[in-house]
Amino acid sequence: MSRIVGIDLGTTNSVVAVMEDGGPVVIPAREGSHTVPSIVAFSRRGERLVGSLAKRQAATNPEGTFFAIKRLIGRKRNDPHVDEASRHVPYRIAAAGNGDAHVQVGDRVFSPQEVAAAVLSHLKEIGEEYTGSKITDAVITVPAYFDDSQRQATRDAGRIAGLNVLRILNEPTAASLAYGTMREGTDERVIAVYDLGGGTFDISILRLSQGVYEVLATAGDTFLGGEDFDQRIIAWLAGEFLRETGVDALADRLALQRLKEAAEKAKCELSRQDVADIQLPFLATTPKGPAHLARTLTRAAFEDLVRDLVERTRGPCEEALGAAGLTHEQIEDVLLVGGQTRTPLVQETVREIFRREPNRQVNPDEVVALGAAIQAGVLRGDVKEIVLLDVTPLSLGVEVRGGAFVKMIDRGATVPCRRTRVFTTTADNQSKVEIHVLQGERELATANKSLARFDLVGIPPAPKGTPQIEVAFDIDSNGIVSVSARDLASGLEQQVVVTPTTGLTPHEIERAIGEAESYAEEDRRRIHASRTKAKLQGLLATSEKSFAEFASLLRPDQQTDIRGVFDECRRALSGDDVDTLHAALDRLNGISRTLAELAMYDPNAF
Ligand code: AMP
Repeated sequence: MSRIVGIDLGTTNSVVAVMEDGGPVVIPAREGSHTVPSIVAFSRRGERLVGSLAKRQAATNPEGTFFAIKRLIGRKRNDPHVDEASRHVPYRIAAAGNGDAHVQVGDRVFSPQEVAAAVLSHLKEIGEEYTGSKITDAVITVPAYFDDSQRQATRDAGRIAGLNVLRILNEPTAASLAYGTMREGTDERVIAVYDLGGGTFDISILRLSQGVYEVLATAGDTFLGGEDFDQRIIAWLAGEFLRETGVDALADRLALQRLKEAAEKAKCELSRQDVADIQLPFLATTPKGPAHLARTLTRAAFEDLVRDLVERTRGPCEEALGAAGLTHEQIEDVLLVGGQTRTPLVQETVREIFRREPNRQVNPDEVVALGAAIQAGVLRGDVKEIVLLDVTPLSLGVEVRGGAFVKMIDRGATVPCRRTRVFTTTADNQSKVEIHVLQGERELATANKSLARFDLVGIPPAPKGTPQIEVAFDIDSNGIVSVSARDLASGLEQQVVVTPTTGLTPHEIERAIGEAESYAEEDRRRIHASRTKAKLQGLLATSEKSFAEFASLLRPDQQTDIRGVFDECRRALSGDDVDTLHAALDRLNGISRTLAELAMYDPNAF
């Protein structure tokens, strides 16, 4: 049976893990690091770069480098959060035909699902190289507070990447799985998972008891994370620069990208030290010449810049405690998850909220992926005695006359779950009923997130109020919603025409899968070319060395031939064509044998 990987698809970084010898392990990326930047770039030459390669070229290609895509997935372009994000990123965020947020470089448009799929494909390849086998199945994590559109979009991203997404798992639940398998003893324990990542904040309260992981409550903010911390530093730096030079660095995409990198670096340094030095030479050109930016940021000043962001995590923590019916004294351990929890002010705030020292035994960057791998082990049957009881973060319901929202499934309901409700008609001989499905907590329907509209068609003619149409809402273990309808009078299942308000159509997904496959082919070609190049480079260096030493033992025509092959190799190395590289390698292999024989030749031997 092939292996199933666990993937933490983060806003800033992603991690892939797998079960090995009964325990979860993080698979190192090609560069050896355990995390892969969730960045995808499209170069002017049409190449696609993913992960650290994309990150490395970001400063020179700000418009074609997409980061923090998780903030856009499953959202409309006119979502106020997306609008806010579009003011702070150097790339363009556009609207698709159905109003979904898309990203754009030149005249090429990509859905966030396709961009996330590129990251997932990259992680899939890392997993395949590590395990030596094809990977088709995955468990992918999402913030607990993700709504249905965001979950569906993440699942679609997996499909585009050629992955069968066996489970969409909540990040805090994944973290608690990893924690649960690490700790000794099976005594009952109530824990809080405080997860502040690059783009989202989640707080979950769980009860762990004898292999049962029960989520008691969850709350959060899907638009609060490390990216906002970076923005505060960027705004401060840009303000200082404007005051000093009169230049608005935010208006220049290249300068903005450089400010972003410097801001994140300074923020991370301030987790370890009291002062960070920020140097950005030649940030802009002014009539007086080049303008440089040089500043020091103290930890205290940084804390003033971000205090309100950290404070915003308090409300959801209190809310989750309240929903779980617990007080802070009843929380026995607090797990810190997500890179942003390394900021001392965040840790201090967590200490204040829960009045206890947070647990330091888990690695905040890796624990979610490790938990996803454990869940993969459960699905594969390798890990037994684990039961997950997760909850839905948001209420689900329909719009009724007058624009009110009627809840059918309350937030906090344990998933999977199913609820039904009977609807009827408001006019005589009405053959069609439109049901508008929404998710959220507001009483006004339009203030909630619209998930789908259902037309129940073909209702037999009858006086108003007579037909009884039972609509069933289901939330599966992935937190994904589906709806079905049945005419109680006839007992027949009604035809349901589903028009999702967000997300890709099956046709768009198919097209994206085709494109992703061609990119995967291109990626494989590029990897193959770079390996052949490395081999050729190494062999050329040793051959040139031997040649310098033993050329005198060769005839002049042989020397000319060999020099010719060396030139051919150098020409091949200046390009990326695999066939040319192979041809050069073949010819060089022949020569290196001759040179090796010469090296063994001893003129003093009989
Ligand atoms: P995650 O989504 O868990 O990968 O979290 C990534 C976020 O954590 C990004 O905003 C990073 O800038 C931030 N981060 C990573 N390391 C540190 C650090 N040492 N101090 C503060 N923030 C960090």
